[in-house]
Amino acid sequence: MKFGTKLIHNGNDIDQNTGALSIPIYQTSTYHQADIDNMGKYDYSRSGNPTREALENTIAQLEGGCRGFAFSSGMAATSSVLATFSSGDHIIICEDVYGGTYRVTSRLFNRFNIEFTYIDAADVNNITKNIKSNTKAIFLETPSNPLLKITDLRSAIEIAKKHDLKVIVDNTFMSPYLQRPLELGADVVIHSATKFIGGHSDVVGGLVAVRDEQLAEEIYFVQNGFGAILGPQDCWLLLRGLKTLKVRVDQCQKTASKLAEWLNNRPEVSKVYYPLLSGHPGRQIHLSQADGGGAVLSFKTHDVESAKNFLKRLKNCAVAVSLGGVETIVSYPVKMSHASVPKEERERLGVTDTLIRVSVGLEEFEDMVEDFSQALGD
Ligand SMILES: *Cc1c(COP(=O)(O)O)cnc(C)c1O
Repeated sequence: MKFGTKLIHNGNDIDQNTGALSIPIYQTSTYHQADIDNMGKYDYSRSGNPTREALENTIAQLEGGCRGFAFSSGMAATSSVLATFSSGDHIIICEDVYGGTYRVTSRLFNRFNIEFTYIDAADVNNITKNIKSNTKAIFLETPSNPLLKITDLRSAIEIAKKHDLKVIVDNTFMSPYLQRPLELGADVVIHSATKFIGGHSDVVGGLVAVRDEQLAEEIYFVQNGFGAILGPQDCWLLLRGLKTLKVRVDQCQKTASKLAEWLNNRPEVSKVYYPLLSGHPGRQIHLSQADGGGAVLSFKTHDVESAKNFLKRLKNCAVAVSLGGVETIVSYPVKMSHASVPKEERERLGVTDTLIRVSVGLEEFEDMVEDFSQALGD
């Protein structure tokens, strides 16, 4: 079955109890037990809820995993996955990882003696170089944020398998439509469902899909024990958002691709970052592991003043954190997603104060070009 059909018909689309075409919002915390000696499938909504279960089974199906989990945010999903590790463990992580992930790894999980080494994963040799006797996992994000650097997933996974390391991939930027790391051999996929999966800038949530049952049990233990679950109303919003994932992403990335080319030819722009641009160093690798460039691009202006003026002058775009919505969202990484990364580290990574990130929405290309033209100072 092709992906677009799978979004609509995946076995979790019809409510088993009523036949409803929209999974009901089971807004309940607890469940009556008719027979105390034989407890029912559900007993308490932290442990299980039918609306959440439909969403969890859906993400598992879409990513090609054995089981899925829904959390109260992308960071709750990431943190819960990281909570399966123990004091003394070492994890190799890409240095341009999402700002919030950088924050919890460098300032929270380190307090529990889980050690992280930040590497440039665009060169997978850096993985091999940093493996130690206590290394347990590799945490990757490709394309990375906000510079859209590409990690070769197949090579990274091959290295990991040789050393018995788990591979965790934050797949938020691509969504399961464009990239399915579990099918390439990764062990865990994480999503900030706040972004493309929800797709309408109206819900915060996180999803996880895993490859094997044992790891699923470990993550379920944390989900139920730590308790950062997603409520039924928000699960319903994600189920609803998922149905249109393909048509949204198709349209948004078509415009993004054209906009990247257009920006590339503008004298006010010094550099454009988009995986499908012909000069992008990771282009071939990206195309070998993903089915499209996605809807996020970044660019740099010549100076800070021009970047700030651009943000001020935009008329038809939101200037905001987040991405993946139906509306174009323009963000300023140094003050937003990367505000928690120390200035020196940020500049070393290339996240300068002339950098602007664009999550392209469903507005029409011609209108976007008109708005961007005037905002660049035409
Ligand atoms: C937004 C984001 C997160 C965090 O998700 P929240 O839902 O905001 O907690 C993690 N990774 C990436 C790549 C993101 O864009």
